[in-house]
Amino acid sequence: MQPSALQIVALVLMLALAAPACNPSPSTSAPDTAAAGESRGSQQQLAQRLLANATIVDGTGQPGFVGDVGIADGRIVGIGPSGSVATEPEAAVEDLQGLVLTPGFIDIHNHSDRAIVRQPQAEALLSQGLTTIAVGADGGSPWPIGAYLEEVDAARPALNVAVTVGHGTVRRRVMGDDSSREATTAEVLAMTELVRQGMAEGAFGLSSGLEYDPGRFSSTEELIALARAAGESGGYYISHMRDEELYVMEAIDEVIRIGREARLPVQISHIKMGDATAWGRSAEALERIHAARDEGLDITADWYPYAAYATTLALLVPSRRFDDADQVAAGLEVRGGAHRVQVTRYAADPSVEGLRLDEIAARYGKTPVETYTQIMKNGGGRMICHSMQLEDVNAFAVDPLVMVCSDGGIGSSHPRGAGTFPRVLAHYVREEGILDLETAVHKMTRMPADRLGLEHRGRIEIGAVADLVAFDPQTVQDNSTFEEPELPATGIERVWVAGELVWNAGQPTGARPGRALRGR
Ligand SMILES: [Zn+2]
Repeated sequence: MQPSALQIVALVLMLALAAPACNPSPSTSAPDTAAAGESRGSQQQLAQRLLANATIVDGTGQPGFVGDVGIADGRIVGIGPSGSVATEPEAAVEDLQGLVLTPGFIDIHNHSDRAIVRQPQAEALLSQGLTTIAVGADGGSPWPIGAYLEEVDAARPALNVAVTVGHGTVRRRVMGDDSSREATTAEVLAMTELVRQGMAEGAFGLSSGLEYDPGRFSSTEELIALARAAGESGGYYISHMRDEELYVMEAIDEVIRIGREARLPVQISHIKMGDATAWGRSAEALERIHAARDEGLDITADWYPYAAYATTLALLVPSRRFDDADQVAAGLEVRGGAHRVQVTRYAADPSVEGLRLDEIAARYGKTPVETYTQIMKNGGGRMICHSMQLEDVNAFAVDPLVMVCSDGGIGSSHPRGAGTFPRVLAHYVREEGILDLETAVHKMTRMPADRLGLEHRGRIEIGAVADLVAFDPQTVQDNSTFEEPELPATGIERVWVAGELVWNAGQPTGARPGRALRGR
């Protein structure tokens, strides 16, 4: 059958339905029970571009269906079974048969704050199907927020960028070098003003990093005061919690308390059971979160699909007494031993980067404890800690309150930076069947969009911005590894931002229609 004939039929049908004389009662059928040939939602505008014959997974979690999506002026104007979307006569038609078409992926926790300005083409992000990233995570953000967002716009990135105000950032601005202590009332007030300013300039919320300096010196009351300021203008609070190991339950309780008392939505960043002291407690953590949810708190979490985390080597010793051999030994033991600690950055001796701590110790002719102390004396570095258990990682994966994040970004030394989103589709959906496709897509699109308050992104519906991705579910694959963390993913066939094709068959098109998003 000629597509053009079908389009004419659809157009005639649409015009007939729009005529007042024969206006039937509005369709009440749910999207997944729409009759063949029926468009989903009423089409007001003819499509200038048609993405045809794709398996459409719309981000809601509803079952996918084969059909067409029509785009005009950067927005989705028509959705329906193949041939049902009315197009302009000269409309461009792209046949996506065999591909899955979903909303563009949204990374709610990304560390490309500066990199996106320097590398606006962002191939590492486009190759994963990302169309929006949120930066300013873990308590550290660019500042001032308004100037940063202007910089992002001036750089014309390929995808969209949202930002949160970093708690540590405003704390440093107010307290300067004297930030290793509790803040005074006056200082908290001054920080609160900065959070208000950041929110007014376009931030989406407040982030904290309470295992890091200077966030770890803050009281819960300080965080409540600042979170309240973020909540006043519709923002959320997102936290790298005070503890992800022995005291992880207490840390979750603190997030819940902040949400309750500051009256704003809260999100736990990269939820994990970080070492042996927390292994097996994922069910208990989720129970706490669900109980708070049941009491009315808008609480969610995010997660990345790896059993290893990346952070500063300093976190091995909570007291920061790096030359205390007993404490270093204890820090290594709870993580399962020196072999679980992979040093990824060590400026004083880059030749050992990528090696495990026991391998470095052997090379230096020292014990792992001595080696760690020496590294910290020489300026420290970063590590990947292979100290999570798959049972916990997977328990978080399937929980309905947990969405996907990368916690990585351009140039990340952890494979999550280049692999997270395709890995969910390849490993968690196709290979292991831990998540079904619709649920996985929901966790990568609509859930983060809802958390950010992006009403017109993260979904395929009429009127939504046409941020979209098409991938082959049989071949989509993350390729980044702990040894080669920046290897790009494959199988993400096309990515559109505001209706413009930015990624095609494994290459950027050069189009950079992304922009800085500004919060409510
Ligand atoms: Zn973090």
